[in-house]
Amino acid sequence: MADPRAQAILDRLRERGVRLTAPRMAVVEALVAAPGHHVTAGDLVDQLRRVDPAFHESTVYRSLDRLVEVGAVTRIEVDAGPAVYHLGVAPHHHVVCDRCGRVIGVPAGLLDAVADELRATHGFELRADAVTLPGRCLACAVPAGSVVGSRSGPALAHDH
Ligand SMILES: [Zn+2]
Ligand SMILES: [Zn+2]
Repeated sequence: MADPRAQAILDRLRERGVRLTAPRMAVVEALVAAPGHHVTAGDLVDQLRRVDPAFHESTVYRSLDRLVEVGAVTRIEVDAGPAVYHLGVAPHHHVVCDRCGRVIGVPAGLLDAVADELRATHGFELRADAVTLPGRCLACAVPAGSVVGSRSGPALAHDH
């Protein structure tokens, strides 16, 4: 219970009348501690079991469902792969690598121009917070077998 961010979220939940069971508190703390704050339920189960090997997978799912219900946690459905969870922090969009499934948060303002254009030209209100853009992450964008910055292969060798 050392993390002030976890504490702030738990305080908010308590104010909303959400019962703070031990598993729910553990799930919130695990979400706060997760690198990048974008994790699958499986990641959370692994993380929680490192502390308590008896932690039930179904408990994690139930806690996550409840946290999504009250709006403390957002669930992002990724086409190919398990749902990814993140805390309701500063608004941001997500880009998802369609190769390794990595989810990366990008600043919310990135789609402002697109949203403005859609509104002005098409009268369409983009739900920007629900947008998940597919693509390739840096690690996956490099074609297999090639190493960035290494151009000293035999093909480039020459004699004087
Ligand atoms: Zn990738
Ligand atoms: Zn996110």
